[in-house]
Amino acid sequence: MTYDTNNIFAKILRGEIPCHKIYEDAHVLAFMDVMPQVDGHALVIPKAPSRNLLDADPAVFAPLFAAVQKVANAAKQAFDAEGVLIKQFNEAAAGQTVYHLHVHVLPRKDGQELKPHSGKMADHALLAKQAEAYRAALKV
Ligand code: AMP
Repeated sequence: MTYDTNNIFAKILRGEIPCHKIYEDAHVLAFMDVMPQVDGHALVIPKAPSRNLLDADPAVFAPLFAAVQKVANAAKQAFDAEGVLIKQFNEAAAGQTVYHLHVHVLPRKDGQELKPHSGKMADHALLAKQAEAYRAALKV
């Protein structure tokens, strides 16, 4: 399987479609998931192209997971979470729907239900507010 340069996250990285940005550095971009499973559901992606973890250059993992850690701590603070769920899917059989490596960050509270994966589109004003809460927690 090859990398499709027209996947939606590649378009976000090129600035061809908008996102609610949380964090960016030379290696990664983090933004709000538009069909969140919980309030504060974020995605962290490397700028380097790969379909998923299976074909990624291992050099992307250190900066990617350093950013995941930052965003996860910000999620805990900004959404008053008790824990943080990190998810990552590889190929359709494992639930992957967008074929650019990404890591899901979900702030969690005990007993709180998860909405379905790739379910309902969230209100953009709400996502903008939540991205702002992340940026405040990250101090960026
Ligand atoms: P998956 O490939 O299954 O790990 O998940 C892809 C995720 O990307 C899903 O949770 C979608 O809700 C999310 N998603 C799809 N399109 C966009 C978009 N344009 N901006 C932000 N998130 C998106």
